[in-house]
Amino acid sequence: MTNRSPLNRDDAGISPLPEIPAQLRAVLNGIPAMVGYWDTGLRNRLANDAYCEWFGFAPRQLHGMHVRDVLGETVFEANRPHIEGALAGEPQQFDRTLVDAAGRSRFTEVTYTPDSQDCVVQGFFVVVTDITGRVLADRRRQQDMDRYRALARSVPGVFVLLFDAELRYLIAEGQELETFGYRREELEGQRIQDVLKGDLASELEPRYRAALAGRDVSWNRRIGHRTYRLNAGPVFSDDEAAAGMVVAVDITERLQQQKVWEALHEIATEVARNAAPAAISERVAAIVRDLFNVDSAAVVRFTGASSAEIVAMAPTLPPTLSRRQIFAPTDESATVRVAVTGKPALVVYGAEGGQAAEQMRAGGFQSAAAAPIRVRGSLWGAVSLTSKSRTGVTEAMMERLAQFAELVEIAIGNTEARTDLEQQATTDALSGLPNRRALERHLAEHVAQAASRGTRLSAVVLDIDHFKRVNDTHGHLTGDVVLAEVAARLRTVARAKEIVARFGGEEFVWLLPETDGAEALRAAERAREAIASEPFGDVGFLTISAGVCEQSDAAAGSLLDCADRALYEAKNGGRNRTSRYGHASPAAQTQAGQAQDGTQTRGA
Ligand code: GH3
Ligand code: MG
Ligand code: MG
Repeated sequence: MTNRSPLNRDDAGISPLPEIPAQLRAVLNGIPAMVGYWDTGLRNRLANDAYCEWFGFAPRQLHGMHVRDVLGETVFEANRPHIEGALAGEPQQFDRTLVDAAGRSRFTEVTYTPDSQDCVVQGFFVVVTDITGRVLADRRRQQDMDRYRALARSVPGVFVLLFDAELRYLIAEGQELETFGYRREELEGQRIQDVLKGDLASELEPRYRAALAGRDVSWNRRIGHRTYRLNAGPVFSDDEAAAGMVVAVDITERLQQQKVWEALHEIATEVARNAAPAAISERVAAIVRDLFNVDSAAVVRFTGASSAEIVAMAPTLPPTLSRRQIFAPTDESATVRVAVTGKPALVVYGAEGGQAAEQMRAGGFQSAAAAPIRVRGSLWGAVSLTSKSRTGVTEAMMERLAQFAELVEIAIGNTEARTDLEQQATTDALSGLPNRRALERHLAEHVAQAASRGTRLSAVVLDIDHFKRVNDTHGHLTGDVVLAEVAARLRTVARAKEIVARFGGEEFVWLLPETDGAEALRAAERAREAIASEPFGDVGFLTISAGVCEQSDAAAGSLLDCADRALYEAKNGGRNRTSRYGHASPAAQTQAGQAQDGTQTRGA
């Protein structure tokens, strides 16, 4: 017996095959696939143009060829089980990567459909569909999916959701998903309306649909203490199957950073507005409390090795807490730790924390962090925050507070430097009194105020009698000490709202708001008394002369000029006396029993 298997070529007994009618060929060519027919001897009986072209044969050549010669040895062997199956009457379907005659590689889907008549297989049809486009798109999609998964897994604070046109999740990946209360396995393969809790599905649906329609949508969502930015948009640009993607990014830190900058801008604005350091500290405390979302925040200034002052607190200082704090270096309070170490500190208050901790616990506080504020290189104080929960203040918060404090210290340093400069510019160093420049400003203000309110205003100009002799006898340094002592005595005579300034040399000006000339003269007399009644140490007794003027009497000239003229009268009248501009002779005020020209030492 010869082997009659059709899988082996057997040219014996083959009848010449009839030509394919033209109409049938036209129909076959209209099919967007390669179509062929193989008989049981595996000879080609039918092939459309696409099929012939693919294998690089003319239709006439292919006709009657054995499948083995058409496919080539390798492909034939690979297809062999399918061919056997088709010949056994079983339909076959499989994918195959084929290389055409021109060497192009295509992804194809192949079907073998047996042609049976009366249960006897006559041959089988072959349909080869080029699915390259679809395969590539699928692969791209798969690669995209893999990329999204990798992205979601590797980037902290991110999760990715991929969904199809039915709003079914294809991918739900990322650790952050758990923050939202979902696990990947629960979501993937599920439609949003079946798996999302509460009203979330109906809230999200319009956004997902917009993404599927090709639009980008963004929104923020707060979950617990964290804020997420969600961006939804279309994916799969080949739009064979629409899909959308949501990428959620944890933007809590970024928002915080933005808030920090806004806060610093606010503080900087206050600094630029020349706000006082205390006012700035108030803003800082309020901002820190708000920024860190804690129960309270404070700005503390270190006033000594074991003392501090709470400069500002938000909300306001509770009655249980005193503004001035004395602490032991061992106290377990965050602020004390900063005072001792100069470094940021985090403390959870326990029973053995000493007095500071006890005070905090009494106020209901359980955890705190503090960070140093350094001004011009030295430890100025601390900014602190406290929580009523043991876990309310974290290490991360402490670190952020430290960064914030570094920026705050620039603001505080600037205001302090400015305040110092201002102080220096307006204060007389020797006497500690306002200087001439400051006096001129006060005078202008008081004159304007008296005019607008219709109140009285008086000025006294005071000059030490024969002061030159003090310098000549005891030296310039002693003269300085005497000047400071005179200033101190004048200050004790004056009332708080009155201004005593050093006008220059050994001359002083005393401004008395809401005071008429007669009262001012009595005040000047008290001053003269205060100087003349007590000796100045080794220098002995000294006297002053004073000129008084009331604003309403000074119409012709300025207030100070007129007071100065009265002083000249007092000097001329013999010194150690007071005189009022435009009023009675100064002789009346001379003190009986005391030297008019007094530099004598007591008992001399
Ligand atoms: P009279 O009673 O006329 O006011 O005599 P007087 O000596 O007080 O007046 P005069 O204006 O002649 O001299 C004022 C002196 O005050 C001259 C100057 O050396 C001294 N003086 C001015 N400023 C200072 C200062 O800052 N320190 C010291 N030690 N002396 C000063
Ligand atoms: Mg003098
Ligand atoms: Mg003088």
